[in-house]
Amino acid sequence: MSELAAFASKVAGCTRCRLAETRTQVVFGVGDPDSDLMFVGEAPGFHEDKQGYPFVGQAGKLLDKLLMGIGLDRSRVYIANVLKCRPPGNRDPAPDEIEACESHLFRQIELIRPRVVGTLGNFATKLLSGKPAGITRVHGVEQEVTLGGSRVLLYPLYHPAAALYTPAMLQVLEQDFARLPDLLGREVEPPAPLLSPVAPEPAQAQAVQLGLF
Ligand code: URA
Repeated sequence: MSELAAFASKVAGCTRCRLAETRTQVVFGVGDPDSDLMFVGEAPGFHEDKQGYPFVGQAGKLLDKLLMGIGLDRSRVYIANVLKCRPPGNRDPAPDEIEACESHLFRQIELIRPRVVGTLGNFATKLLSGKPAGITRVHGVEQEVTLGGSRVLLYPLYHPAAALYTPAMLQVLEQDFARLPDLLGREVEPPAPLLSPVAPEPAQAQAVQLGLF
């Protein structure tokens, strides 16, 4: 069993917050655990809670279409949520629920090691950027962050559910999704060492030393 599968089995029995009492099951995540691209949504809804997979309802169908628009499908990316259990009535995640659940997501990111993390909506964006700026201000603009011990490009996107009710939003989502292939091809700078007596050499010089050129 892979480490990710073993971790999923462990999380399946989670009772860290009140949502354990009302959920049908934990919705851990789905997709290619080796993918360079991971999406993080908000929380399971009615259908996700019943079926055990993220984004299987209307918003998920739109996510599938957006992926198709850039030549991908859900089997080639990894999809998860901030909360692994459905809030009753699909209400917003409560701060203490996010706090109880966040280490599951961070460990998931650590095991998947994506290069790009597309955050879908405000909750994922604020949690993973560590900043309060809302999605309207930051969508479509990538940020370099350290997640799960690795440098990743965080790429805030509107939540697909927003486009279900506001068609103009769909165009914005399509435009933002269109930049994903480019972001996936981009190098991410390694984090600067905390204490560095000698200035790090540029990557090209290191590559020459290693005989790569
Ligand atoms: N919305 C989300 O944020 N996540 C899901 O899994 C489904 C809908």
